[in-house]
Amino acid sequence: MDATLLFPLPEGMLIEDVQVTETSLSLTVRATHPTSCCPLCSQASSSIHSHYQRTLSDASCVGRQVQLSLTVRRFYCRNRLCERKVFTERLPRFVQPWARMTIRLSQHLQAVGLATSGRGGIKLAVRLGMQTSRQTLLRRIMELPDLPEESVLYLGIDDFSLWRGQRFGTILVNLETHHIVDLLPDRRAETAATWMQQRPDIMAVSRDRGVEYAKAAADGAPQAINVADRFHVVKNLTEALQLLLARCQEEIKAASQTPEPCQDEQSKQVVSLEEWRPPEPAHVEKARLARRAGRYARYQQVVELQEGGMKPKEIAQRMGIAQRTIRRWLASGTFPEARKRRKRQSSFEVFAPYVLSRWKAGERNGLALWREIKEQGYTGTGRTVYRYLETLKQAEVKASANPQRLQKFSANTAIWLFVRDPESLDEMEQKDLAAFCQASITLKKAYDLVQDFLSMVHKREGHRLETWLEQVTSSNLSELQSFATGVERDKAAVQAGLTWWINNGVVEGLVTKVKLIKRQMYGRASFALLRQRVLHAL
Ligand SMILES: [Zn+2]
Repeated sequence: MDATLLFPLPEGMLIEDVQVTETSLSLTVRATHPTSCCPLCSQASSSIHSHYQRTLSDASCVGRQVQLSLTVRRFYCRNRLCERKVFTERLPRFVQPWARMTIRLSQHLQAVGLATSGRGGIKLAVRLGMQTSRQTLLRRIMELPDLPEESVLYLGIDDFSLWRGQRFGTILVNLETHHIVDLLPDRRAETAATWMQQRPDIMAVSRDRGVEYAKAAADGAPQAINVADRFHVVKNLTEALQLLLARCQEEIKAASQTPEPCQDEQSKQVVSLEEWRPPEPAHVEKARLARRAGRYARYQQVVELQEGGMKPKEIAQRMGIAQRTIRRWLASGTFPEARKRRKRQSSFEVFAPYVLSRWKAGERNGLALWREIKEQGYTGTGRTVYRYLETLKQAEVKASANPQRLQKFSANTAIWLFVRDPESLDEMEQKDLAAFCQASITLKKAYDLVQDFLSMVHKREGHRLETWLEQVTSSNLSELQSFATGVERDKAAVQAGLTWWINNGVVEGLVTKVKLIKRQMYGRASFALLRQRVLHAL
């Protein structure tokens, strides 16, 4: 039987000998094609000058490593006009002139490298009968040529963290095909602009609200319409609203406080020990709100895709979110809140019941209470004690402002009453919202404006933006006014974002994919390697 049926070789190559061990297969192979073409003048020649041997690694054979001992020939070039007198035989689709492995083995290693890019890749390759090293695996990936450039009409651009939120890269996405078309090593305007200049086809650029990408689009694709991503716009509006809410809550609180503190024991609602939690610092609260806005945007995107008839599995792939998460979100039917952070165990915990009982007995002096529990063995700082007393004090204020339910809200929990679709609020939430709007005319006004804006977003009614901005300008809501000022600066793009179908939801999903690939790579792998892996990812 012809051995090349089981182990295919290019036409004209003959297996002369086979040596088999448990882990390896050594083949002696000879090239027999009567002629070969000169690489310089392409003329065929049959005049053999000499023979020589090449040793090559080849693709594995049923898990065995394969070595080829290949006899190839040198030919004379008989073309008198050709400068080359002697040339070596070429096997263009099988092995490159100076390579030590065949093209097909190289391709197998590339596939393993792209799929793993980690230490696991070497183990896997060896298991499959391909001896390799980390360097080889990485080199194979780096050798991959850039993919043929696809024409991009609708470009999505965003940044992503390259290194611990300190270094950023740029991701460029074809919004029609949902392909990542390129990664750039930074997020500077010039870099992105240069990239865009190479692609005069770009008709629209969907971007965040930052100045860098706006500048990039203006310089690199002046022909394109700018589209400010509407989720980013909503996020900015939400942030403005949060500031306004915080201000109004202070006002409501101040107005509802009676001049004489009520000493009635019943009105002194006191927080339970389980609920006790030191208040969150402002910057932590802000970061959490931002994360939440991001989650909310993704959630909305998931719902939109489902409504468009997409299956959870496809949505998961598209968005780069686990399928289980998608199913959970869709099953819950409402925006899924992140789980609350767990309270850190503190050494104060054991002493809290004692301090609480002393507080109830009328002790208000933090220093005195701290001293008392220190005698009982408390080793922590006074700060925890003071913060606890602060919480108790607030609980009293809340109690005195009863039956107003409003105080139980912080600005960032109340905000979700304001930005959610009123239809999706349950009865209790509707009551809470009504109470807010009754308590403050400012809040009522803000609520109407915000809901109007959101309906503009959902119904893609960008043509109403101008009127909306005028209403905000003539209101006395300074927080929304500064949001409006920001919109004015970038109005055409925001209007386009409120009108066009395109948005950056897909881009955010793909950023997640890039992060996933980055995490699988060797330590702090280079940007160039990351780019190769992402662009050639299956
Ligand atoms: Zn020649």
